[in-house]
Amino acid sequence: TEEILLKSEKVSLIGDLAAGIAHEIRNPLTSIAGLVQLINESDREKNSFFKDIILTEINRINFIVSELMVLAKPHAVYFSWFNIVESIQNVIDLMQPEANLRNVIISFDKEENMPLVYGERNQLTQVIINMIKNAMEALPDGGEISLFAAPFDGQVVLTVKDNGVGMTDEQQKRIGEPFYTTKYNGTGLGLMICFKIIQNHGGTILVDSTLNKGTSFQITLPVHASSPVDPVHK
Ligand code: ADP
Ligand code: MG
Repeated sequence: TEEILLKSEKVSLIGDLAAGIAHEIRNPLTSIAGLVQLINESDREKNSFFKDIILTEINRINFIVSELMVLAKPHAVYFSWFNIVESIQNVIDLMQPEANLRNVIISFDKEENMPLVYGERNQLTQVIINMIKNAMEALPDGGEISLFAAPFDGQVVLTVKDNGVGMTDEQQKRIGEPFYTTKYNGTGLGLMICFKIIQNHGGTILVDSTLNKGTSFQITLPVHASSPVDPVHK
């Protein structure tokens, strides 16, 4: 259960990513192509069955592409000083209804006088969303998600902890690889996107997880402008 520093080299392999995307999108496309050929004018029942699968496959492609859009340059990527505590609270408020449905209790503790963070607010919000989503999905029978924010040594440390299913050491080594997922309906893109964003902010992510006990992700962000990628308004 020792902490593993998630290596940023994982996210720099653009060729791997491209290969993964090609593969993940080709599978549903192949299935769609096959099904279209099976459509038979006279068998309405079969046609409607094929139609449902085709729509599911198209939705799958759509979902993968929309997850990847986070990495594409949005209209405005700009770094600014902002209150990350406020952003975390907004995400929790947004996810509260789903947490209630899943019997998940989300708590958030922060130290007084949290410094502002210099970063891309939308992207960092996306990181918090992805982390809380994963924590919820790790709690199939409900449980607790605890968030904690504190200043430390000129940095801001955010912890997202759950008492869910946890991970094996093998899993911990692989998370963040594009398309690595253990979920039936997962894309395996959430953490890759988190690593990429935190790397762009000059920060780090640590994971500490024990199977059947839970998982804790620790994100460290420099408070001062480090060398953000494309800090200017685009
Ligand atoms: P996805 O959620 O689509 O599977 P992610 O990149 O978000 O993709 O996560 C990759 C994998 O990492 C998950 O499939 C799961 O095995 C593991 N994982 C991530 N967060 C947690 C967590 N909080 N608890 C247990 N396993 C996790
Ligand atoms: Mg995820």
